[in-house]
This record gives sequence, structure tokens and C-alpha cells, in this order.
Amino acid sequence: MIDVPVLVVGGGPAGMSMSLLLDRFGIPNMLAEKRPSTTTHPKARGCTARTMEQFRVWGIEERVRKAALPQESDVACWCESLNGPLVAYTQPAPVQNTPAPRSIVPQDAVEEALADELATRPGVALRRRTEFLSLAQDAEVVTARLRDLDTGELLEVRARYLVGCDGANSRVRDAVGIEMEGPPTLALMANHYYRADVGHLPHVRSAIGFLVRPRDRSRPDVNVLATGPRGDRWLAVQKLRDGEEPMSEEDLIAFVREIWEIPDLPVQRINVMNWHMSAQVAQRFRCGRVFLAGDAAHRFPTAGGNGLNSGVQDVHNLAWKIAAVLSGHAAVSLVDTYEPERRPVAVSNTEFAVRNQGRMDEMDEAFRRRDEDPETWRRLLVDQDNQLHSDGQAMGYVYRSAAVVDDGSPLPPHDSRRYWPADRPGARFPHLWLDVDRTETTIDWFDTTFVLVCGPDADEWESTGTRLAGAGAPLRVRRLPHLLGPLTIRRDGAVLVRPDGHVAWQAPGAGAEAQLAVALDQVLAHVPDAASVAPSEARGVEA
Ligand SMILES: Cc1cc2nc3c(=O)[nH]c(=O)nc-3n(C[C@H](O)[C@H](O)[C@H](O)COP(=O)(O)OP(=O)(O)OC[C@H]3O[C@@H](n4cnc5c(N)ncnc54)[C@H](O)[C@@H]3O)c2cc1C
Repeated sequence: MIDVPVLVVGGGPAGMSMSLLLDRFGIPNMLAEKRPSTTTHPKARGCTARTMEQFRVWGIEERVRKAALPQESDVACWCESLNGPLVAYTQPAPVQNTPAPRSIVPQDAVEEALADELATRPGVALRRRTEFLSLAQDAEVVTARLRDLDTGELLEVRARYLVGCDGANSRVRDAVGIEMEGPPTLALMANHYYRADVGHLPHVRSAIGFLVRPRDRSRPDVNVLATGPRGDRWLAVQKLRDGEEPMSEEDLIAFVREIWEIPDLPVQRINVMNWHMSAQVAQRFRCGRVFLAGDAAHRFPTAGGNGLNSGVQDVHNLAWKIAAVLSGHAAVSLVDTYEPERRPVAVSNTEFAVRNQGRMDEMDEAFRRRDEDPETWRRLLVDQDNQLHSDGQAMGYVYRSAAVVDDGSPLPPHDSRRYWPADRPGARFPHLWLDVDRTETTIDWFDTTFVLVCGPDADEWESTGTRLAGAGAPLRVRRLPHLLGPLTIRRDGAVLVRPDGHVAWQAPGAGAEAQLAVALDQVLAHVPDAASVAPSEARGVEA
């Protein structure tokens, strides 16, 4: 029997992020992954600004960006063939409100960066070629049975918590009897990953993807997606029509040569993945000591690019809670707040992705009819920005649960396209550069402890926070040099921010410092009654 505080099952982006985060919190953990290596298929192709912000804090942002397309290629292009005419491009999204803009980067490169970082972490026991089989749990522990796929040896692992990050066909989810809600199959897809060096052509890095819609309807509709910055690796995503088979290797080679109009182009298929496009969310994200995260908890259509990103955000929400409970800073009920915070985001992401898929389908039709009906075609092209520009969806969610002391202040409007920075309870604390050289941002403050963010004149709050931290509270104190833009915090006030960068509590101005310890206790679930902390006084925006 192996004893470990947390067992993470599945080493995709969600599982590796969970393991890495737990280690950053000082929680030893085992990561069991059945494959021998990170994915050999590029799958998802973009990290949102929110995910890149986390990679920045974890020190892997630059590694990930090295494998990315240029920033301005964050657009889609419709065409009949890749040798032109390239009929229309969407607009690149504006970069604002973040120190770490969205990156167009394939999932295999993201997984490699995470795996490299994990290899340096002493608290992570990474077991590849190790398959999760089953589990049993009681009030104290969860015991999992694993199999070493090389030796056939069976292992028993006993943990305080188990996090199932084992993907869309999660065996962990089945083991605890959690059902998925929503349609399992919206479409059948085939991803063909291949090598074809066209890096010398002028337009290859100009778009994240070329949506090739041949005039000849007997030819397949394929999205040709750039994979990496060199223009030599590509993904052809084929949406299968009724009864249609995935292209054979021979068909793929012919197709690639045809769309580039280079008859002798060397093309080498690397691998193929057939998959179901689904729109499903797990009925529950937790059963006792077992949690679900990533694709194990939700599966979206890929349009809008939320699959990988939602998984990283799930574990960013869960890891600090499990760590706070295991290190004795929080009552066990803190982890109850994971599902009420993350499930609504998964539902919203599913709805957004389904809407986006509808946009893509409408576009296909309008593209083909663009000569007869140019107005519809133009309108739908402009509308594509509503899926490709989605900072609001990526950063604008506001958590509501017992781990947030709500003060009734107005909620920013939900707008999937635009992110409205807010420092109200539950919202991501906004990014502000702290120095003229733009090297440090408020986002860098939020990592492994709570942070009391003090206004420029909040001397009393600063000394109260420092005293509390000195007495052992999981808290650091930071002072804002100025109040700019979206902040409603008073110059002599403060905001308590959770380790995941979301505001836990907004304090009133000077004179109420005793409330800090109460608020922290409440968020850490030591005080069950949400009404026990007085709501902040009405606040105005400081000049
Ligand atoms: C072919 C394909 C193409 C995709 N394209 C896109 C895209 O273009 N854009 C986009 O946003 N998303 C895309 N996705 C979705 C995206 O890849 C996922 O949302 C993302 O990988 C989810 O990460 P995850 O860590 O939750 O799960 P996964 O990446 O699926 O990782 C789960 C891990 O668990 C392991 N595992 C499974 N069962 C066990 C077990 N019993 N024991 C131990 N380990 C186990 C698996 O080997 C795997 O490594 C695609 C997915 C697929 C399959």
C-alpha cells in the first residue's frame, strides 16, 4: 500500500497542472498516467490569456510561447484552396487587461512544457504507464487500484483526495457513478496530423486555421490548422458527413497537395485521431473524496477553444482548496465550494461552444453562397469575432459560493467577447502593471497564499495583515502604488484575494481592520454563517 496525500489520475493538461499546483503548495502527490509520454497529437491549439497568466506565475510562459504562432495570427481564414484566393480573414483580438496575452500554441507543446516543469518538482511522484482501475472510499480516505502496464503489477494507493483528470471517457467518473448531461455526439471528427514543409510560403503563419471549403461539394470540408511556428506541421480536421469515412493516408496526401497546389509536395502523415464532438457536463464534479476536473467533467465543441483551458482553470480553483484543508488552514467544507464555482463556468463554456459551432456551420453555407448573398456572408464573418475574441468568457466569470464573501455590489455584465475588469468579490482581481518597465503585475502576486491588497493609503490594513500573517495565517500583504482604471477599492481600504487570484472579500476603508481575520476565517470555512462578516460600506471610485 502506498500512502500519499493526493492521487491525481490522468496526466493531460489538467492533471499535470493539478500535480504542479499541489507541489507549489507543498502537498506531495502522485500522478498516474497510462501513456508512456505526453500527447503525440496536437489536439487543442490555443491557451487563453487566463491560462497564460497562470503559466507566467508557474514560470513556463516563455517555454510555451516559443512553440506558438505569431501573436497576430490569431485569426481564421476562409478559402476554397490554400493557393488562393484567401477569401476572408477575421480580425485579430485586441490585447488588453492582461500581462500574458492568449497564445496560439498546440497542446503537445503545452504538455511538454508542463512535463518539463513537473520533472523538476520534488513533491510529484509521476508514474507513467500506470493505469487507474477502480476505487473505494470511506469518510477518511480513498483507496485506488492501479496497474503498472509494463510489469502488470497491481498497486494500491491510499490518499486523502483523488482528482480524476482522466479525460472524456473518465474511468474515475464511472467508478463514482457520475453521469454526464447533454448530447454525447454532435459530430464525428477525424484529426489528421501531418508533416508538409510549406514554411516558405508567405501566408502560412497568417492564421491559426484555414477553413478550406472547395466549390466541388464532393471534396471534403477540412480545417487546416497550423501547428507550431515553422509551417512544417499541420492538422487537417475533417468533420465527417453522414456515412463518410476518414481520409486514408493516400487521400490525405492527395488532398494536401491539391489544396496547396504543389503536386510533388512531400507529405508525411504522423497520426490520426477520430473523436466525437460533444456538449456534456458532469451532473456533479465531486463524490466524497473524489473530484473530477478537465474533460472528465465537461466536453465542449472545440470552437472558441475552451477544452484545455477550462481544465487548467478547474484545477487552479481546486488545488488551493485541497492544499488549505490538508495543511490545516481550512475546514474540510472549503472543498465543497469547488463544484458551485466551476460547474456554472463549465455550463457557460458549453453553451458558448455550442453557439460557436452553430456560427461555424452557418458560415460554411454563407461562404458557398457569398456571390448570391454577400450581405449575409459579410454579417456572419463579422459575427465570427464573437467566438474568436472571448476574453470575457476566459476571464470574466465571477464565482459565487461560501468561499466568497459577497457584498451585493453590482455584477459586471456577462459578455463572452469583452472582459470587464472588476475587483468585486468573486471576480478575478484585475491586472495592473506595477512598474514603468512593465515587468511586474498584480497577477504575479497571486500564487500560493491569500494576498491582502492594500490601497495606497491603507497603513492600518497593511499592519493588520502583517500581524495576521506573522501569527501564521496563509496571507501576504501587498500595497498598490496607485489606483487606476477599474478598481473600486478605497485608497485607505483593502481587498482580500484568494490564491487563485479571485477576490474573496472587499474590506471597507480604515477603521474596520478587525474584520480581516473574520473574513479570512469565513472564506476558509471556519465560520459557517455567510452573514457574519458585515458587508463593505458603499464604495466610490477613487480618482
Ligand atoms: C483529437 C482531439 C482533438 C482536439 N482538438 C481540440 C481543439 O482543437 N481545441 C480544443 O480546445 N480542444 C481540443 N480537444 C480537446 C482538448 O484536447 C481537451 O479538452 C484537453 O485535452 C482536456 O485536457 P484533460 O487534461 O482534461 O484531458 P486529456 O487531455 O484527455 O488527458 C487525460 C489523460 O488521462 C489519461 N488517462 C485516461 N484514462 C486513464 C486511466 N484509466 N489511468 C491513467 N491515465 C488515464 C490519458 O492517457 C490522458 O493523458 C481535442 C481533443 C481530441 C481528443
